Amino acid sequence: MEGKLTMAPRLERFVSPGKGNGLRAAARIRRGELVTTAEPLACCVSNKLARDVCHQCFTRCGTLLRCSQCKMARYCNVSCQKQAWAGHKRECKCLRSLLPRVPTDSVRLAARLIFALFSSSKSSSAELYSLDEHESHLNSMSEQKKQGLSQLASMLELYLQPEVPDPTQASVLPPSCQEALSLIAKVTCNCFTISDGELQEIGVGLYPSLSLLNHDCRPNCVMVFEGTKLQLRAVRDVNPEEELTISYIETLSLTEDRRRQLEDQYHFTCHCQRCDSHDKDGLMLSGEESTWRPLKEALPRLEALKAESNWQVLLESCNQLLSGDGGTVPIENLYKLRILDMALDASIHLEQWDKALIYGVETLKVYRRFYPDPHPVHGIQLMRVGKLQHYLEHIEDALNTFREAYKIMKLTHGDDHPLTIDLTMKMEECRSEMDKQSFSRQ
Ligand SMILES: [Zn+2]
Ligand SMILES: [Zn+2]
Ligand SMILES: [Zn+2]
Repeated sequence: MEGKLTMAPRLERFVSPGKGNGLRAAARIRRGELVTTAEPLACCVSNKLARDVCHQCFTRCGTLLRCSQCKMARYCNVSCQKQAWAGHKRECKCLRSLLPRVPTDSVRLAARLIFALFSSSKSSSAELYSLDEHESHLNSMSEQKKQGLSQLASMLELYLQPEVPDPTQASVLPPSCQEALSLIAKVTCNCFTISDGELQEIGVGLYPSLSLLNHDCRPNCVMVFEGTKLQLRAVRDVNPEEELTISYIETLSLTEDRRRQLEDQYHFTCHCQRCDSHDKDGLMLSGEESTWRPLKEALPRLEALKAESNWQVLLESCNQLLSGDGGTVPIENLYKLRILDMALDASIHLEQWDKALIYGVETLKVYRRFYPDPHPVHGIQLMRVGKLQHYLEHIEDALNTFREAYKIMKLTHGDDHPLTIDLTMKMEECRSEMDKQSFSRQ
């Protein structure tokens, strides 16, 4: 039944007190229910992953066909390449004109939005209406931020030269988006990060109908992607007329840090219940400051090692920090948790499965406390740990962990999501392996 036009919409626009436009439930919505799905009006694979992901269906692929003209766009097969051409034709010409430079993700996305509108139906222009209404926040922006955006705007104008020499003449755009600076401001403020099953960022997209969703640090909805299709699901029961919210940022961080990030990126001060009550800040700072300060201070260096995929050095550094004084810091401490997570990543990359399992199990103890509602991050972490247990032949543990993951993912991803299907298959494998074991013992 999901997604059929005959169904009454589950959400409607309204004016949220103190927040401006928002979306609210039009009827009662149950936990785990699919609220709505959306296809992007425009999207693009991030530059970082341009070589690893199909630019049409956003699937990760070992060998990809490369566009022979711009040498940037890549596709998993001829069919994806053909489907992509209508949207890529203009982009291809612009990309070639700028070589060897490649514009940033937001510049490429803004251009793709314009190209999509050139070849679009009325419905997507109507969708754009909501983007048109959004503030660009240019007036409340710091000088530094405005300067950064101005540079992007000049880049956009240069990039568009071969196809759209004068954006102000592009009548497909609503007036407020015709100027490069305000267009880029709106795009950066309203775009969604498209992530894959493992929640790794693979691209950015514009879903104007859902840009109206306001933020809450403990939201009642989560977004999950299947390719580029966005699925919005409720993670708590929602009453009719109650506002629907998502989190724009990683919720597992201190109030002060969440507020700063929201102010910097989205230009508002969060007054959600979690922020106003400084919920869990004390717990996240558990332990003696003198013991966790070195962990906190090491994080930027560790993040850099992770970004470089320098796993060996990363794992050694994590181990060093987690022994000695760091060993006495309670695992509820946020900085310790971040380091455990990085140690898990590094051990997996280095194929040190036993170590990875120890770190993974540690993190789960804390994830349970910090994610009171079903959350994709928690479900995926359980699935990773379950896979380690399965691989190391701790079959019973694996089955229990997969079960716990399923309880979350059937709500956050739904039963039809490829990842949930993968998970149920893993559970089935565990069960049949346990049957075989008990049979051979008899
Ligand atoms: Zn593809
Ligand atoms: Zn091309
Ligand atoms: Zn908040």
